[in-house]
Amino acid sequence: MTAVRRKATFRLYPNAAQEAALGRTLAAHCKLYNTLLETARLRHKAGLPAFNRTSVNEATKAVRNKQGWMAQRTTAQSVQVTGERLVRAFDAFFRRLAAGQTPGYPRFKSIERYPGWGYKAHGDGWTLLRKAEGFGAVRLSAIGTVSLRGRARFEGVPKTAEVLRQGHKWYLSVTFEVAETAVARPGGQQSMAFDFGLATLLTQVVGDPMAGEVQTVENPRWLKRKLQAIQETQRVISALEAKAPRNAKPTCALLRAYARRRRLHSQVARQRHDFYHQLSARLVARFGLIVTEELALANLVRAPKARPNEGAAADEPQFLPNGAAAKAGLNRSLLDAAPGGFLQKLRYKAEEAGSKFIEIPTRAVKPTQRCHCCGAASPKRLDERRWRCACGADHERDENAARTMLRYAYEGAWWDNNGSGADPGAQTAPRNSIQAQAWVE
Ligand SMILES: [Zn+2]
Repeated sequence: MTAVRRKATFRLYPNAAQEAALGRTLAAHCKLYNTLLETARLRHKAGLPAFNRTSVNEATKAVRNKQGWMAQRTTAQSVQVTGERLVRAFDAFFRRLAAGQTPGYPRFKSIERYPGWGYKAHGDGWTLLRKAEGFGAVRLSAIGTVSLRGRARFEGVPKTAEVLRQGHKWYLSVTFEVAETAVARPGGQQSMAFDFGLATLLTQVVGDPMAGEVQTVENPRWLKRKLQAIQETQRVISALEAKAPRNAKPTCALLRAYARRRRLHSQVARQRHDFYHQLSARLVARFGLIVTEELALANLVRAPKARPNEGAAADEPQFLPNGAAAKAGLNRSLLDAAPGGFLQKLRYKAEEAGSKFIEIPTRAVKPTQRCHCCGAASPKRLDERRWRCACGADHERDENAARTMLRYAYEGAWWDNNGSGADPGAQTAPRNSIQAQAWVE
């Protein structure tokens, strides 16, 4: 029997005293994180090696032992989790730096923005308490026995947990070890490829790469409304901040606006999380083969290349439009759309259903640039929503991308056969059925 790990999130219902205690523990972890970050900065400046898991553990222990109040509000294992978070933040920073990107140096976190803390082993600092149906409460060290609600879709052994604050609400996110059979779900039979977009969330091609029907999934309306509300709040905050003298204490109005922004952000995160769960479950119930491209957010968020206007006179624009404005807007909404969270949910649900989820290599396939009919690829600007291929095919960008991906899933790099004179159509894969899976492997 194979075991897999699954997360379930429970809403916590602390009483007033427990809520205050949760806030104090959060403050202790936030303080610890910032203290470690300061130490890491000094090490970096002094040319010392960056923290690794061992050295950060020692530093963490030292900070906790020196600060009695911190020791009272945290457990030895939970502070290790916080230390490891910092190591991960630096690892990501150095990895991006090595890849030639310009990442932001890990930042100090305000208590307002600090998300929560974690525990390693069940029974060490946290214990789930069973009620007749599922779990009814969790005993948290230094906080007390806090009621919780929410039911996991599976039975499992609790392994690790995180206490998270979102807006004014508290959650317990528990990772369970579950038998694979306990999470099995019925999977569908049809095949489909989708392009993840912004205006339209998913552009799907169902069935045959060439002739299959196009179906779309729109972004939910509440998301647009919430994003508008966030932008408005942001404007209010900017105006208030511009008016305030430097280093002045924030006014009540400003604090209220901060609170509103926080609340809206956590509402969006929560609702999107639920929406992505439902959508991925629906897709897996319907499709036995789901294809999309590997997500490389770093590529998508990279600034478009400047296009010099060659031969331009001195008084003419020196650069042609390169879609940068469109991309700036796109980047913002792309981050808002959080495709990574969606793909992750889809990935494990497909696994549970025994469906195949293929993420094709974007760089090799270039789905947004390659014609799904003839296989020719040429660079396209982001603002080119429609384009005509040299072969005569007229393409809508997202639809063509989905068709190119689906065809790749069936036939591999079919365009490579063109040079050798082979007819790309001669390679016949079983189409329009889940049998394609075997062919793909
Ligand atoms: Zn073509």
